[in-house]
Amino acid sequence: MNVEPFVTFNKIGKRWNGQLGVEDITIQIPEGAFVALLGPSGCGKSTTLRLLAGLETPDEGEIIIDSVDVTEMAPSARNLSMVFQSYALFPHLSVAENVMFGMKVRKVPKEECMEKLHNALEITGLLGYEERKPGELSGGQRQRVALARAIVARQPLCLMDEPLSNLDAKLRNSVRRDIKKLQRSLGMTVVYVTHDQTEAMSMADIIILMKDGRIMQIGSPQELYSEPQNTFAAEFVGAPPMALISGSAIKGAEHASKVGVRTEDVTVVEAGKGRLTCTVSESEYLGVETHVQLEHPEGKGLVVKLHGYASLVEGSSVDIDFDDSALHYFDENGNRMAS
Ligand code: ADP
Ligand code: MG
Repeated sequence: MNVEPFVTFNKIGKRWNGQLGVEDITIQIPEGAFVALLGPSGCGKSTTLRLLAGLETPDEGEIIIDSVDVTEMAPSARNLSMVFQSYALFPHLSVAENVMFGMKVRKVPKEECMEKLHNALEITGLLGYEERKPGELSGGQRQRVALARAIVARQPLCLMDEPLSNLDAKLRNSVRRDIKKLQRSLGMTVVYVTHDQTEAMSMADIIILMKDGRIMQIGSPQELYSEPQNTFAAEFVGAPPMALISGSAIKGAEHASKVGVRTEDVTVVEAGKGRLTCTVSESEYLGVETHVQLEHPEGKGLVVKLHGYASLVEGSSVDIDFDDSALHYFDENGNRMAS
């Protein structure tokens, strides 16, 4: 079955006075997918989202939503809703008025308005808060109001730009699960901007990893984790990041510029029996395990995880080992090699 993508970016480029925003962005998003735009600050995530929303116009390329070329269309003609980091609520309006604002503008009949309001507040756990003003709500509740407003819009496409970054860690986890559940039950297509790889890994069906205005890799969370296409993806995805070692330091890997290995593939062995001899730099006890940072002149990001509490003396020497089958090979441009 050849299903037409719901959203297509075809070679999109955007510059400001010649300065790069994004370049050569080609994306295909299936209907009902949860897509994360992931990358460090300034890499072009918001620009990409704003181009999709119609808040920016590309210098080249075209954008298709649901088989319609929307490249030159106004935001209001694109059938989408947006949730921003800043909530963008009206401070003088109540929760109910904020959520119903769009429906009022579109002159939706009163009864339908009330029904949709009730439904959206129920889904977001805000029943009973109808009359409160945004100033009388916590950050998490405000973000839920913004979500409720996106839900009542009932648009097939919802765009979110770092919607959780104002919340504390605990709340972030619970709202994260709420958003995911909502997206599934409403069958929405969501494009979600984040710089947080944990968020992208735990929520997305598809991750679009960006750097310096360009796409570095597109794939499922598992694909990005287990087959990073370049050293940037290897280091950006996963906690801790993949360790990178000079190929020249590893027997049989001299053809590669860099060799990557995940912490779960590294074991500590008896002195003199490992493939690399490292120095312990720091131990981090996390309860269930201890992360031990290692130093090696030819490597960076080397970490071994030891079960439970482990005390390794700083500055002491540790031999580590790994299988060839666990290694990832990268060439001098940082691109993945077959073997
Ligand atoms: P991100 O959301 O990934 O942090 P942005 O998409 O906001 O990144 O920005 C990408 C690049 O485009 C940055 O270098 C930023 O300074 C630039 N940029 C974004 N918006 C504008 C604008 N309106 N005018 C000029 N430069 C901009
Ligand atoms: Mg941004």
